[in-house]
Amino acid sequence: MLDIRDRLKEWTRRRPGMLLAATIAVVAGAAWPAAQAAPYDLLLRNARIVDGTGSPWFRADLGIRGDTIARIAPSIDEPATRTIDVAGQVLAPGFIDIHTHAARGIFQIPTADNYVRQGVTTLIEGPDGSSPVPLGAFLAKLEALEKAVNIGAFIGQGSIRSRVIGEGNRQATPDELQQMGALVEQGMKDGAFGLSTGLFYVPGTFTPTGEVVELAKVAGRFGGIHISHMRDETAAVVDSVNETIAIGERGGLATQVTHHKIIGRPNWGKSVETLRAVDEARARGVDVTIDAYPYTASSTSIQGALFPAWAQEGGRKQVLARLADPAIRPKIKADVVRVIMNERGGGDPRNIVVASCEWDAALAGRNLSEVARGRGLQPTVDDAAEAAIWLVQSGGCQGVFHAIGEEDLERILKHPATMIGSDGEVPTFGKASPHPRSYGTFVRVLGVYVRDRRIVTLADAVRKMTSFPAARIGLADRGLVRPGMKADLVVFDPARVKDLATFERPHQYAEGISYVLTNGQVVFEKGAMTAARPGAVLYGPGRPNGRR
Ligand SMILES: [Zn+2]
Repeated sequence: MLDIRDRLKEWTRRRPGMLLAATIAVVAGAAWPAAQAAPYDLLLRNARIVDGTGSPWFRADLGIRGDTIARIAPSIDEPATRTIDVAGQVLAPGFIDIHTHAARGIFQIPTADNYVRQGVTTLIEGPDGSSPVPLGAFLAKLEALEKAVNIGAFIGQGSIRSRVIGEGNRQATPDELQQMGALVEQGMKDGAFGLSTGLFYVPGTFTPTGEVVELAKVAGRFGGIHISHMRDETAAVVDSVNETIAIGERGGLATQVTHHKIIGRPNWGKSVETLRAVDEARARGVDVTIDAYPYTASSTSIQGALFPAWAQEGGRKQVLARLADPAIRPKIKADVVRVIMNERGGGDPRNIVVASCEWDAALAGRNLSEVARGRGLQPTVDDAAEAAIWLVQSGGCQGVFHAIGEEDLERILKHPATMIGSDGEVPTFGKASPHPRSYGTFVRVLGVYVRDRRIVTLADAVRKMTSFPAARIGLADRGLVRPGMKADLVVFDPARVKDLATFERPHQYAEGISYVLTNGQVVFEKGAMTAARPGAVLYGPGRPNGRR
């Protein structure tokens, strides 16, 4: 009688595949006895995977080990510490928000519930030319924070200019230019993803293009990009897009028009020209891209939006001195009237709504006509300008400005070079009357512009929220559902996903998101945040010690 070894040899001689199969069975059996760790920490079964590339979905299971996607296959049968059956819902990479003001709130609410509940797992700070200078201490503080999301930052040109030159309207001296370049270099070495500019704001608005180019070159040398809140988003928006393109072209780095929009009714339709300028630049080899949010209103400070730059020169003390000067005040007011009529006011003071005033919480949610009435004034444009000036004099406020055309919005949103960015923050739930973009941006794109209006396909929208921004800032290990990538993931029901935050009632979380994972850990499920805080600080390409 043959013993077992001989019998195996005999089988193998007759059917060569048998030995391999038997070996696999033995090894497999030995690898996962019940007492040992399962091969996956988390298994997501029955998913429709929208992988972030823009390709149509495919059905698969996904296994996670630690913070990394370990395997994707039509069916994974090996055991896992935890298995979630997602029942045919969409599984996509966690969304990456390339334009946020997360520093407003992240230290108070490190779970960033408003973002996580939209499926966002990465927030990028420091846009609009505004960031902490230097960046290193800020990033170290974020490292020490236990948070639910990943976070990274740009270094801000406006903040650097303010540090070196102040808020004045003048050219930089060669020495100052060198100092500013050194601060950009420091920012890149600290881990910035690039240089942000806010050429609309003071002091960015006093910066000649050539000066921006010189600083952009420094960011480019360290592999960073340039991202701009442009000089003008109204009548001169086409010139501003061309300037943004020129900064990339002359600076030798990728450049991005951030929160691209066309403000003011007389300017609606200009996105045809701005997008043509982007297409032509790309055709000749300029790496220019766009981000946008899906709302027809913008949000920034009342002073920044309505006052002319010259009236804001030098800082708050000087602004107040000009308003107190009977020779200057009427000139400022005339400009505010013009902006209400043709730019951010969309032709009607009711289009300007107070989002928050630190000095009077009761003003939040009131439009400029109502503020005027509350002051015993008439709801005219002239008196609305008076009300706006009073708001600035009293301490300043954030505002929401309804002056963007829906056609431009849709045209920009569906452009292949446009990604999604919220321009939002981390609000305290229920406090003030912030722009709903902080609560709804990503889910609004999926619900309104993908499902209801069919402006963008689901796969393309997910690309615009994931692999596209990841590639833009050089995040090689995020933004795709693929083995080896960090397990930042979102599970949602595309039929049910819906933004509830409105301008009237902004403090409402998005609906239809089922699970959110950051670095392999579930941070949101069954309608609630979990206790997990797996968020990491992400660093740009210039950091000498490497990056995460
Ligand atoms: Zn901005």
